[in-house]
Amino acid sequence: MGFWEFAYMTESSRNAVSVEGAQLIDGKAMAAQMTDDIRQQVEKLVEQGHELPGLAVVLVGNDPASEVYVKNKAIQTHRAGMKSFMHMMPESTSQEELLTLIDELNANPKVNGILVQLPLPAQIDPIVVTNAIKPEKDVDGLGEVNTGRLALGMKNGIVPCTPLGCLKLLQSVHKDMTGLHAVVVGASNLVGKPMAQLLLKENCTVSVAHIHTRNIEEITRQADILVVATGKAELVKANWVKPGATVIDVGITRLKTAEGKSRLVGDVDFEAVRHVAGYITPVPGGVGPMTIACLLHNTFQAARSEVNLSE
Ligand code: NAD
Repeated sequence: MGFWEFAYMTESSRNAVSVEGAQLIDGKAMAAQMTDDIRQQVEKLVEQGHELPGLAVVLVGNDPASEVYVKNKAIQTHRAGMKSFMHMMPESTSQEELLTLIDELNANPKVNGILVQLPLPAQIDPIVVTNAIKPEKDVDGLGEVNTGRLALGMKNGIVPCTPLGCLKLLQSVHKDMTGLHAVVVGASNLVGKPMAQLLLKENCTVSVAHIHTRNIEEITRQADILVVATGKAELVKANWVKPGATVIDVGITRLKTAEGKSRLVGDVDFEAVRHVAGYITPVPGGVGPMTIACLLHNTFQAARSEVNLSE
């Protein structure tokens, strides 16, 4: 197979280990396909006489990276044929003011999904805020109800978008993950912990490594599946990776180049690790677009559940 052939497209490539270098898992193309599929399903819902699904995104403050993320979410929401409601609040917003907006969105029948962009300013407790979102509209899946449903393996929960995107990327190259050793590096509520839950559900043997893990390379070298979400640019080196492993890179860091330009890198030293891994996701173009596609998926599912309930 060619060096950069898109692994997820070819059924025969599943579980294959390339001897010449890793095969790229193209999250951008997968996300575009998912968005097209959702658009078609939205059209069917509307043909049946139902309202367009709507997603409300709330940004507090003016963190430049968060501004880019919420704009992208709005663009993709429109691309999927759904309604986007943007709420930009100043950095000085109090927790009470934000909770008042969430109450309004919870009560608004045009809003099927609510996402509050993290991180929030220091005066606001993100756990209080995510728990205030109605579980049926918690399309980021970070509230206690959806977190509990995921931990219990219940089917009616909403799964956090980034780990769900990682799972779909993994499923594109692993038909069955039973018995594989999956190592998740990073243990945040947003990515690492729900990722570990999803991999357990796939019957993997799961290890979770974090900042306090000793001899971390010895653990990551055992991984058939390695998911990295630390925010530490190019942390994972080639000697951390077992030959042929599948590597999913969640991290996004903007680095300045010697010429004064900037480039996005992940938590994996891509140029080195691609010679060792079997499959690898790029940054950009891997997990990032799949996170947004899964947000659209969760919003559409929330709208469809509401229709089913009202019928
Ligand atoms: P976080 O800061 O909340 O958690 C980081 C985790 O990594 C912690 O558990 C910490 O113990 C661990 N860690 C930190 N340094 C480490 C080290 N040197 N060795 C081992 N473990 C270490 O971060 P997060 O919210 O989980 O995000 C992680 C990264 O993923 C960030 O770069 C973030 O921008 C990115 N991210 C990307 C997407 C996407 O859509 N692509 C979505 C969410 C987060």
